[in-house]
Amino acid sequence: MNNFEYKQAANTHNAIDLINQAPEAAFVAGGTNIIDLWKYNLTHPSSLIDINHLNENAEITTLEDGKVRLGAAVKNADTAYHPVIAEKYPLLSKAILAGASAQIRNMASNGGNLLQRTRCYYFYDPDVPCNKREPGSGCPAKDGYNRIHAILGTSEECIAVFPSDMCIALAALEAVVSVSGPNGDRSIAFADFHRLPGDRPDLDNTLERGEIITSIDLPEEGFSDHYSYLKLRDRHSYAFALVSVATAFKLNGSIIESARIALGGVAHQPWRSIEAEAFLKNKEANAENFAAAADLILRGAKGFGSNDFKIALAKKAIIRNGLMALNPESQLPGARPSA
Ligand code: SF4
Repeated sequence: MNNFEYKQAANTHNAIDLINQAPEAAFVAGGTNIIDLWKYNLTHPSSLIDINHLNENAEITTLEDGKVRLGAAVKNADTAYHPVIAEKYPLLSKAILAGASAQIRNMASNGGNLLQRTRCYYFYDPDVPCNKREPGSGCPAKDGYNRIHAILGTSEECIAVFPSDMCIALAALEAVVSVSGPNGDRSIAFADFHRLPGDRPDLDNTLERGEIITSIDLPEEGFSDHYSYLKLRDRHSYAFALVSVATAFKLNGSIIESARIALGGVAHQPWRSIEAEAFLKNKEANAENFAAAADLILRGAKGFGSNDFKIALAKKAIIRNGLMALNPESQLPGARPSA
């Protein structure tokens, strides 16, 4: 690790001022990813701006229009177990609790969850090339061991996946990210926050330099009657998803009024298919239609050898999770966290 300055931001504006005073400065909240990156010698911040004490971003608030605002500084565990979230947005609670370990969820912040970096093995190995770490150097994952890598939205430059569970539920719920920066405040639709690698795999998201996430707004509709989050991984705990699915329905009897399906572990961003969700509208909620929707979602999916299995796995996961969403109470113990 390099020598660095530690500064504690007093409020959001002070945090923005501090980060813009030093080009190599970085924010730290829970530190659950940046400290790893630092220890692997992948980042070398000259200043660490501690944003754990920004009280204005430290609460979960129900707004007058029925939306719910998640402060960026709120811990993942506090979000998952918050009574309003557990009751109104159980899909989000379940996705958060599927991620990492209890210790990490106690430390990790909501804002930081959105900003975590890929777990591609090659990205973390400074002795091999990696276009995300060093643009133009190459991507050994494409012809290497790529069991955890993407099958959708890949580019010649990068086939990494975004590793979050929480963000897959936020994508399905159509959350909105609020940010502040030197040019003022703005809102970013969740679908526009994370990006595909294209020819700039070094950029994970659309945040501008010097901007800070202040909150994440959840729309009033929480799909609390019909939802499911399914995470398939190599071991049952403390592992990243090979494939995950967040599914939510509004039903009229057995007919789907609206559907949301977001996939994790398959792309550089949470993956949604508006076409597949439109296909399910006014259809019977059954395995046959979920399979047809899965074919739409996975159209164009491509494996790279070790991860070919993900295409069939994702299809089965979409069907299974659709059926589980019809009756959330029938899911495995812990499916609906109690407040
Ligand atoms: Fe780097 Fe992306 Fe290739 Fe992994 S997949 S080695 S992160 S360029």
